[in-house]
Amino acid sequence: MFSKVLIANRGEIALRIQRACKELGIKTVAVHSTADADAMHVRLADESVCIGPPPARDSYLHIPALVSACEITGAEAIHPGYGFLSENARFAEILEAHGIAFIGPKAEHIRIMGDKIEAKRTAMELGIPVVPGSEGGVDNYADARRIADDIGYPVLVKAAAGGGGRGMKVARSPQELENALANARAEAQSAFGDSSVYLEKYLGTPRHIEIQVLGDGKGNAVYLGERDCSLQRRHQKVWEEALSPALNTEQREQIGETVAAAMRKLQYSGAGTIEFLYENGEFYFIEMNTRLQVEHPVTEMITGIDIVHEQIRVAAGASLSFSQEDVTFEGHAIECRINAEDPRTFMPSPGRISHFHTPGGLGVRVDSGVYQGYVIPPYYDSLIGKLIVHGRNRVECLMRLRRCLDEFVVDGINSTIPLFRALVDHPDIADGRYDIHWLEAYLAETS
Ligand code: ADP
Repeated sequence: MFSKVLIANRGEIALRIQRACKELGIKTVAVHSTADADAMHVRLADESVCIGPPPARDSYLHIPALVSACEITGAEAIHPGYGFLSENARFAEILEAHGIAFIGPKAEHIRIMGDKIEAKRTAMELGIPVVPGSEGGVDNYADARRIADDIGYPVLVKAAAGGGGRGMKVARSPQELENALANARAEAQSAFGDSSVYLEKYLGTPRHIEIQVLGDGKGNAVYLGERDCSLQRRHQKVWEEALSPALNTEQREQIGETVAAAMRKLQYSGAGTIEFLYENGEFYFIEMNTRLQVEHPVTEMITGIDIVHEQIRVAAGASLSFSQEDVTFEGHAIECRINAEDPRTFMPSPGRISHFHTPGGLGVRVDSGVYQGYVIPPYYDSLIGKLIVHGRNRVECLMRLRRCLDEFVVDGINSTIPLFRALVDHPDIADGRYDIHWLEAYLAETS
């Protein structure tokens, strides 16, 4: 096992990883930009290193600074968290060359899954069902038109290097396709420096359902059930739950087994998430994230398995500490992503938090890096924290969530708590009756 781990991240996820390290008896090194000198992840770490000025490219994304920080402190491994360098295959290779362990999958798997065209091809080869679409990239209108005629409108033009919902355009007719293709390529080029795009059938009313997996890199892999992340705004997840209100046990086991078998074949190592759209009883692969996800706690709440512990153990060469038969699903969990944003316009709202009170009690977990008096800097994402609530069933979970949202106080800045207070009382949410477009429609209706 490692004796010291450097956490190449900030905010709630840096704290989350620190907690796992402490429980495993591992010393922690925090890194921070000059904007984060007072951050909680720095205060609670065993050691900390300032790695640069506020812009992420000069600090949290600055590979030489991170390698030096390992050398100075003697850290043997880096946990990248999510975002920043977590899905950068080159980073994993550089660490390997320096004799530093990367707490994540093999570089080759990060690379395959980072290119969505390659990822889809691999998924197909591994027996995972995919969304009908172009077989590879599409770079001209004539080809796009031929393929779109074949799969049928509406179609979605998507960036191969995509992430965060960028570089995605819907076309409902051949006329719209020409613009959609040009716009998606331009957006992909400016966001990712890569204009490659591909076509997919646009599904009208799907749910977003994703499967959490863990592998040991030696051919063992398990699935930890699914998360339903259909409540999205601009393709960004807002509310996540486990298990999905839309699946029964048989469907769950079937897709879970398919995915775990694929991961065994791939000899996948560490935590990963296979994302699907789910419509009319069918699953369609859209992408795989080769890292810890923001919403991993809902899975932990229903399985009792600490996903970060397992990531660290596997990266240190151990096998998974349990097998598929040991995985059981208890009750229901929901996560709300509480952002420093106006709850109506979603404009970022950085600044000083004058009052901060988090809910507590049975079945309640708050993962957050902020505190009273903390100033949210304008340079990074706007996540204040995640409220995760567990109940013996979905009804109890919703009752508890309503109570927790009442109790939660964030003053001095705007937060999205009022949005969640409205959602928890909505009959469609109570019934679990929503797809990936529900939230946008609700926001348009109530604005
Ligand atoms: P990103 O990596 O940018 O997040 P994804 O491929 O994961 O892109 O898709 C993000 C979201 O976009 C999905 O959760 C879904 O809401 C929507 N989406 C993606 N592909 C399709 C599709 N073929 N049809 C309809 N909606 C889609």
